[in-house]
Amino acid sequence: MSDTNVKPILISGGGLASLLLAQALRLAKIPYTIFERDASFAFRAQGYRLRLSTEGLDAIESVLDAPTWRRFWDTCGKTGGVGFSTLNAFTGEQTEQVVPEALGSRDNKVIGIARGDMRNIFASGCEEHIEWSKHVAGYELTDDGVRAIFSDGTKSVEGSMLIGGEGIYSRVARQLSGGRIKVYDTGARGIHGQAPSTAFKGLGEGVFRLTDASRAEGSIFIITNVRPGDMDDPDVNFGWTMGGQPGVISAPNDDYSIVGKKAADIAKDLTKGWHPRFRPLFEQMSDSEAAFWKITCSTPSGVPDWPNDPRVTVIGDAVHSMTPAGGIGANTAVRDSALLGRLLREAGGYKPGVTAAYEKEMRIYASEAVHQSYTTATKQFGVGIDEKSSPIV
Ligand SMILES: Cc1cc2nc3c(=O)[nH]c(=O)nc-3n(C[C@H](O)[C@H](O)[C@H](O)COP(=O)(O)OP(=O)(O)OC[C@H]3O[C@@H](n4cnc5c(N)ncnc54)[C@H](O)[C@@H]3O)c2cc1C
Repeated sequence: MSDTNVKPILISGGGLASLLLAQALRLAKIPYTIFERDASFAFRAQGYRLRLSTEGLDAIESVLDAPTWRRFWDTCGKTGGVGFSTLNAFTGEQTEQVVPEALGSRDNKVIGIARGDMRNIFASGCEEHIEWSKHVAGYELTDDGVRAIFSDGTKSVEGSMLIGGEGIYSRVARQLSGGRIKVYDTGARGIHGQAPSTAFKGLGEGVFRLTDASRAEGSIFIITNVRPGDMDDPDVNFGWTMGGQPGVISAPNDDYSIVGKKAADIAKDLTKGWHPRFRPLFEQMSDSEAAFWKITCSTPSGVPDWPNDPRVTVIGDAVHSMTPAGGIGANTAVRDSALLGRLLREAGGYKPGVTAAYEKEMRIYASEAVHQSYTTATKQFGVGIDEKSSPIV
């Protein structure tokens, strides 16, 4: 092994994409260090449940070792039931417009897992390589490597490369691409909530979209995945995700970092006329878990080009953030980890050409995914992005 290869690969952010990449490096015995902004995994609520596509599951299985994959698979919920039903939020009736279940994957089931569980499983065996409370603000190239620069002005050890996986506000992505990687604010807003599983009994098993088109400003919907087996246990919480067209859901002072009771109260108010079958989802919600989020999207026409840097690249939402429409953000992020992890394993660590090969392939599937999510969101939430004039987050 050359000196260069002994330097760790630096990874910015300890989210889903970064941790799965770390698994690939761990198994290939390539040294790495992760810098995560938060103080721990428990620092903030881990939020929503993710649905996994065939591509996403294949990517995860290709990285994990057999026991970790088994643990992951056993933790996933497998929902069959009636598939993806669209219901009128006021009448409770199934609407004529039946949405095909695009995310049914293995065994034709909807495979779902809580983001926090996925993160914990991906982190196993990597914990000692995570440096907490490290807010990456940029990087500098050295003669023979790269250093991450933190927001307090300090710098990391010299790494052989830096991989930016720190989500939609990625500074590494901005610096690497000279501002070409952009994330647009669609104007649509969402709230995520949780309630005891018993509150979901009125729905039954399946994946549901409840729609409310009663407002002149625009419609709101919620999506929820009700898994079998847990519906009689009030200690288990299920989640739901609410989305609203631009102008329908607004937070006090436009402050979308608001979490907890204020966010819960807004969700309760918006749904107060809904059918009694659905009311328990809001009346019984756990206020502390409620959170707003802005519905953002990367450049709809595709992942832009930038001059390749052999020592720096970006993965996950940092390079291709998507709207929740289609539920493919994490599924695309894990493909990046599997692809880059494989290329690094084959190269035995840093090697000129690896980031170029990764970016060439990633641009194709990620551009398709962003486009698909954006196109679906234009229909579902009435959003529209003008790449020249829409606001950037
Ligand atoms: C409500 C909701 C529902 C969703 N449902 C689905 C779904 O069903 N299916 C699906 O495929 N996708 C879904 N997504 C999208 C999915 O969650 C994301 O695509 C996925 O989490 C991206 O992973 P990531 O690792 O790139 O980023 P993240 O998971 O966001 O991780 C980024 C990490 O970087 C850290 N960080 C941020 N800034 C810094 C910094 N400056 N320095 C150091 N660390 C930093 C963060 O704390 C975080 O740990 C959903 C998203 C939302 C909001």
